Amino acid sequence: MKLLFKNIKQLLQIRDNATISLKGSEMKELPKLDDAWLLVEDGKISDFGKMEEIPAFEEVETVDASGKILLPGWIDSHTHLVYAGNREQEFVDRINGLTYEEIANKGGGILNSAKKLQETSEEELYVQSARRMEEVMKMGTTAIEIKSGYGLTTDAELKMLRVIKRLKENYPIAIKATFLGAHAVPKEYKENKDAYLDLLVDEMMPKIAEEQLAEYVDIFCEKGYFTVEDTHKILAAGKKHNLIPKIHVNQFNSIGGIQVGVEYDALSVDHLEVMNPEDIEALKGSRTMPVALPSCSLFLSIPYTPARDIIDAGLPLALATDYNPGSTPSGNMNLVVSLACMKMKMNPEEAINAATVNAAYAMGLSETHGSVTKGKQANFILTEKIPSYGFLPYSFGANHIDSVYINGKKI
Ligand SMILES: [Zn+2]
Repeated sequence: MKLLFKNIKQLLQIRDNATISLKGSEMKELPKLDDAWLLVEDGKISDFGKMEEIPAFEEVETVDASGKILLPGWIDSHTHLVYAGNREQEFVDRINGLTYEEIANKGGGILNSAKKLQETSEEELYVQSARRMEEVMKMGTTAIEIKSGYGLTTDAELKMLRVIKRLKENYPIAIKATFLGAHAVPKEYKENKDAYLDLLVDEMMPKIAEEQLAEYVDIFCEKGYFTVEDTHKILAAGKKHNLIPKIHVNQFNSIGGIQVGVEYDALSVDHLEVMNPEDIEALKGSRTMPVALPSCSLFLSIPYTPARDIIDAGLPLALATDYNPGSTPSGNMNLVVSLACMKMKMNPEEAINAATVNAAYAMGLSETHGSVTKGKQANFILTEKIPSYGFLPYSFGANHIDSVYINGKKI
């Protein structure tokens, strides 16, 4: 089955196979073709070019993209999309001035999310998560990473990871799973965190490896959660089970998590709202992708990741949503791209590169996703008729997506 897009006003993000990530000033370039065509064959990008040189195609289904922009689908490399229930009451309580402790006592916070998840059946958890998956796909997300970490017991963590596995089987979108047992210390282990770490390493990880339920391992390296030493322990154990690190670091404090991530060749270090010059220095020359989560900053009213400092130091940067019930109840990559421009002073080219090419790197999908390259998956956003691609981040909060294609099929 062949699909031909013709009269495309602008075809964005045209790259060769050698481009796997973009750093520093490279992020300002967004290669494009005006008045273009693109052919999809067997779910992959077969060829593309200028309309004035379009060959004669037979037996193709044609989409007239006049006035519309075609770009690679968004790639969301950091989410907690599998969770049970929502926390909007906590949100209202916070508006009304309740303290964190008062909210926790009323049934808010991550440990309460864990309690709710433990009590939710695998089937119900799947149904709730599948609804969110369909929601983000409609908003242009065509590859997604999902973490465990709201289970915090062996059974509940495995339940989350099995739900992710089932989503992988049932949806065309590329999904990667991350084991985040070290998301918070459960109440029962409050006085004995080491025993919880042992449970993660000795019991959960071997089971996850045996059932092949995760590609990545993650830890919340932060004051009051897990230390740099804990991070060493988890990443070293993950390595034994071929779980590649992708870690939560520098959200509220800079305590050396980035340096540990780089030491273990982490695929990405995520959050980075608080960055010291030493943290930026540590990332130079590494293969680790920094990932910013601006909709989390928006929701919590915390600082935004200093994108200019990171990019101007010659580093790459990716963008993701952090979709989760507590700090980012939104999986909208369009909003993330807007926030990157509005709040982090990234220009539209940098933001689009961060949400496509660099995001694909942060999910280990550079060979198949993230750009318009012959042979890559035909995953696209086709916009409505809009004046330019800069209009996408500019008209924040609006939806200008006409249709989304995954593996060449309109969803
Ligand atoms: Zn997160």
